[in-house]
Amino acid sequence: MADRNAGSNGSNGLNAEFETLAVHAGQEPDPATGAVVVPIHTASTFAQDGVGGLRAGFEYARSGNPTRAALETSLAALERGAEALAFASGLAASDALLRAVCRPGSHVVIPADAYGGTYRLFARVLAEWGVEHTAADLSDPAAASAAIRPGSTALVWCETPTNPLLAIADIAALASIAHGADALLVVDNTFASPYLCQPLTLGADVVVHSTTKYLGGHSDVVGGAVVTASAELAQRVRFIQNAAGAVPGPFDAWLVLRGVKTLPVRMDRHCANAREVAALLSAHPAVHAVHYPGLPGHPGHDVAAKQMRDFGGMVSFQLAAGAEGALAVCAATRLFTLAESLGGVESLIEHPASMTHASVAGSPLAVPDDLVRLSVGIEAVDDLLTDLEQALHAG
Ligand SMILES: *Cc1c(COP(=O)(O)O)cnc(C)c1O
Repeated sequence: MADRNAGSNGSNGLNAEFETLAVHAGQEPDPATGAVVVPIHTASTFAQDGVGGLRAGFEYARSGNPTRAALETSLAALERGAEALAFASGLAASDALLRAVCRPGSHVVIPADAYGGTYRLFARVLAEWGVEHTAADLSDPAAASAAIRPGSTALVWCETPTNPLLAIADIAALASIAHGADALLVVDNTFASPYLCQPLTLGADVVVHSTTKYLGGHSDVVGGAVVTASAELAQRVRFIQNAAGAVPGPFDAWLVLRGVKTLPVRMDRHCANAREVAALLSAHPAVHAVHYPGLPGHPGHDVAAKQMRDFGGMVSFQLAAGAEGALAVCAATRLFTLAESLGGVESLIEHPASMTHASVAGSPLAVPDDLVRLSVGIEAVDDLLTDLEQALHAG
């Protein structure tokens, strides 16, 4: 299986621009039929030409599937990685990576602001297997350095922008801190997507994604991915994936591949709309703080401008009227749908303290209860602004 990403699919596009790779990497016409769209291969097993005589490297679909392989080629090209592995969910991807890298006694540095499910994986699952963690404000490289335990820190886990406070970590600075301690830098690139930021080109060792979000882009699939700078690490993660089995089905892999093709055009609109939403919120008397790295006053604005193509589609804000105000706004929008998740074409609103981040209540990662998070969609921006205006009035 090791060479199945090395064939015809991605190599022609490796020097192309991102938008071209999104459409073509891993997605050449099917050699057997000429179909211009990668087929959904549902077979669980593949005929062998004599024992061990695999036709295209495929034998059993947990170990490898052609639709999934096409997605992996695409994601590796988009992140400029050596190899990518597609998973059944973002957390399945994180879990496999952590089991490949950590051992009982390993220590990891995690962000003080992060996706709640990632924190739960460290605090409630890996902790039971002897993996210790320290939460640190990774937007401050000195705090990251101080959290490292030389000799036992196996990795620094970073999210940028963070969920839900949109803090920015300097990926190049964290890479040199991690490497100075012989640790890996892992970046959860879900919020930025590879269109806006490519952590491996800035020195990170591994990127993880919830492809459920911007890569899939249409709120119709759950998936994840690990992309590595080194083929050797990919092999270790692939071993865990095959041994433990958290693979995506072929239809799910196909949906993500379909989403990837329009990632650049969708992201451009997400970013443009989010910029206007952040401007409206910043000027509104009912709002006391807006978290959006595109605002010049955001503490991570300069780092974001340096390492990202644009500032993303996620905005969070705090209400002057406190938690009650936040809940009232969440109840009053008509176009922004009250729902968890993010990164789809439709705009969503949520209250992190009681929804996505309920699992971090009382932990160092607890979020303010007056906070509202928006996933700004690709609708006409005037309709979004009108909806927020009326909801803020109601709140
Ligand atoms: C959603 C999300 C995850 C988890 O992904 P699933 O696909 O839900 O398992 C991880 N990190 C971030 C930043 C997320 O938003």
